[in-house]
Amino acid sequence: MRYIGAHVSSAGGLEKAVFRAFQLKATAFSFFTKNQLQWSALPLSLIEIDNFKKACNQYNFFFEKIIPHSSYLINLGHPDDNLLKKSRVAFINEIKRCDDLGLFFLNFHPGSHLNQISEMDCLSRISESINIALEQTKNIVAVIENTAGQGTNVGYRFEHLYEIINKIDDKSRVGVCLDTCHLFAAGYDLRTKENCQNIFNNFFNLIELKYLKCLHLNDSKKEFNSRVDRHENLGLGQIGTLVFEWIIKNKSFDNIPMILETKNSKMWIKEISWLKSLK
Ligand SMILES: [Zn+2]
Ligand SMILES: [Zn+2]
Repeated sequence: MRYIGAHVSSAGGLEKAVFRAFQLKATAFSFFTKNQLQWSALPLSLIEIDNFKKACNQYNFFFEKIIPHSSYLINLGHPDDNLLKKSRVAFINEIKRCDDLGLFFLNFHPGSHLNQISEMDCLSRISESINIALEQTKNIVAVIENTAGQGTNVGYRFEHLYEIINKIDDKSRVGVCLDTCHLFAAGYDLRTKENCQNIFNNFFNLIELKYLKCLHLNDSKKEFNSRVDRHENLGLGQIGTLVFEWIIKNKSFDNIPMILETKNSKMWIKEISWLKSLK
């Protein structure tokens, strides 16, 4: 079974996100559980939680196919101890929100070294942040997303993801999300079948399939290996459509939620229906 959706807006209430996903004929979706541009949020009320859960049941979404995304402000590898602490508090808070909502995952970008520490030190800080967060929370799996390697972001090589996971104490609560735009921008050329096979083989040799919890299906506005993160609608960017067909037809990705974060949300309904038609 394929679970396909998009990162929908939660403006007006979290249950609205569920309805927006339903309108797209999606079977999976992503959303922010709070304003992603603010550090803190009021705790979720019982009514908000109840409305969200009711909407998921009403529109037939499985909780394990909903992959919320954390705030972009959080930097779990921050070189400054005080700001690292601030990020850790915000991250723990987001995990708790996801748990309150009955969800299973929280997707996040690993972090940035800001040219103040080495990539390796940054990766160690990220592992430590995840360990602390997992210790203080329950249930939720922390899903690390590969990055485009823009600026001083780490997580743009499979080896980075491996390094982070390697130092996690409870490996049952850590996972990975692969974003096709980020892969391409980071120097993984997804334009031929042979390359797709090799790239994903390399990934699975380093990080087992069981860690792969989500795929972000995005084309890239910027050219190959640009290290710039600019999403484009499927087929309108530099990657082309081959990789999306290859992913949909590959049995390894059965049951893994596939989320669009493409630029023009008006095209999502079409993109989802195209992806569904490929299987
Ligand atoms: Zn992301
Ligand atoms: Zn993404």
